[in-house]
Amino acid sequence: MEYSEDEFIQLSGIQHFVFCRRQWGLINVEQAWEENLLTAEGRLMHDRAHDPFLKEKRKTVIISRAMPVVSKQMGVTGECDVVEFTKADDGISLIGYDGKYKVCPIEYKRGAPKLEDSDRMQLAAQAMCLEEMLLCHIDEGALFYGETRRRERVEITAELRDKTQKAFREMHEYLQLGRIAAPANDARCGACSLKDVCMPKLARLSASEYVRKNVEDM
Ligand code: SF4
Repeated sequence: MEYSEDEFIQLSGIQHFVFCRRQWGLINVEQAWEENLLTAEGRLMHDRAHDPFLKEKRKTVIISRAMPVVSKQMGVTGECDVVEFTKADDGISLIGYDGKYKVCPIEYKRGAPKLEDSDRMQLAAQAMCLEEMLLCHIDEGALFYGETRRRERVEITAELRDKTQKAFREMHEYLQLGRIAAPANDARCGACSLKDVCMPKLARLSASEYVRKNVEDM
C-alpha cells in the first residue's frame, strides 16, 4: 500500500508520539504547540545542524545537510539533519560523483541518550525513507547528543523497522479518525511543553467528576 501526498505526516512527529500519544495528537490533530525551554534548545541545535552548507566533500565522504526525505510506503515526509555518503565498493552510485557510496543518516539531539526508542525510531524512519528514495540498503545510522558530544551508532534492525512502521500506521489511524489519545497524567507530564493545553489531571475526569470538582473548588 502507498499513501498519497495529501496523507503524508511529519516524520519527526514520531518522537512526540512515542513519548506521549496525546502530545502528538494535540500537535497534529488539534494543532497546538507550546514552546518551552527544552523544545527551544532542541530547535536551536537543529538550526545549527541545518546550516546553509548543503553539501561538503571531505576525502571519501560527501555530507548532505537538511536533506528532504519522503516515504510513500509509510506516508511520511521530513528532513535528515545530516546524511553521510561514504565511499564503499558495495554502495550505490551518486549522480555527479565517482565511485560507490554507503548511506548513513545522522540525527542531532539535545541532551543525553534516552532509554526509550523514540530517537532510534526517528532515525530508522529516515533510513527507510532514504532506502525507498535511493534504492539502497542502510545497515546503520547515528545519533549525536549535545550533552555527551558523542555519536552513538544505531543498527537499523528488522525489529526497529517494524516498530517504526507500526507507529506510523497508528498515527495515520488517529488522524483519519480525528482522535486524540487519553492523557497519560504521569511523570512525563512534568516536563511536557503542552501541559497547560492538555490539562492532564482535568482531562482524566469524567464530565460529572469535572463538574463536582469545580463546584467544590468554588
Ligand atoms: S501533559 Fe502529559 S498527557 Fe498531556 S500531552 Fe503532555 S505528557 Fe501527554
